[in-house]
Amino acid sequence: MLAVRTSRTVEEARLRHETTPVATAALGRALTAAALLGALLKGKETVTLRIIGDGPLGGVIADADAEGNVRGYVKNPRVDLPLKEASKLDVGAAIGRRGFLHVTRDLGLKEPYTGSCPLVSGEIAEDLARYFAHSEQIPSACALGVRVNREGVVAAGGLLVQVLPGTEDLEDKARMLEENLKGLGAVSSLIEEGASPEDLVAMATRGVPTRILGAQEVRFRCRCSRERIEEVLVSLPPEQLAELLSTREGSSESLIEACCHFCRERYRFRPEELARDK
Ligand code: ZN
Repeated sequence: MLAVRTSRTVEEARLRHETTPVATAALGRALTAAALLGALLKGKETVTLRIIGDGPLGGVIADADAEGNVRGYVKNPRVDLPLKEASKLDVGAAIGRRGFLHVTRDLGLKEPYTGSCPLVSGEIAEDLARYFAHSEQIPSACALGVRVNREGVVAAGGLLVQVLPGTEDLEDKARMLEENLKGLGAVSSLIEEGASPEDLVAMATRGVPTRILGAQEVRFRCRCSRERIEEVLVSLPPEQLAELLSTREGSSESLIEACCHFCRERYRFRPEELARDK
């Protein structure tokens, strides 16, 4: 079982991407899910979660490494939708109920491994649980929550429960953990009330003996750098590079500007810096 609190991580993503509340919730759930998947990795491994539905968000992408660094973006961060009943953000409608969830793990082998599963509801937690059950044959239950108010992200976090193959009474244990998870209520409310990840584990495992195996910090951190962006730009055909050329207000100098999808960091280069034959 894994539990994570991502309130600050999701708030940073909201500020970077200037997401609307429903886009914040969708991106926040995806980042939280990626953080949980990242905790299952080792060393230099990375995992990318892509939730591509037929809703107006156009897709949510989040990735994580084994050290708690997560990053992500939504294709259309300005999407706004009416609230669902009980004043809930309608993440399912924003993502769309038809589409796929893809999980790509880069384990440092020749090729990254990608598994996919059709969406169940577009609410992400259920979709991820179904992915594990169907694509990886690991009975799982997942809860993800993001609470947003006018000022920003109030609380965010998630839980992932997996019953390892070979466990005695596998089905019974899986069912019991799933019931516990359902009985907890909204993870974001528990976190807003002050629950730590350790508290969440204790609440969710009621009836099953557990011990804490490890803990680590989670943060929004991108792997982009000026060098990496430069490498990409240098490899572009000249006409595409020319499209990125722009003149900033109050300056006579033209610069090539590129923006990282994942973190919205802007990088500016003088055209001669990107000359191929330098
Ligand atoms: Zn970046």
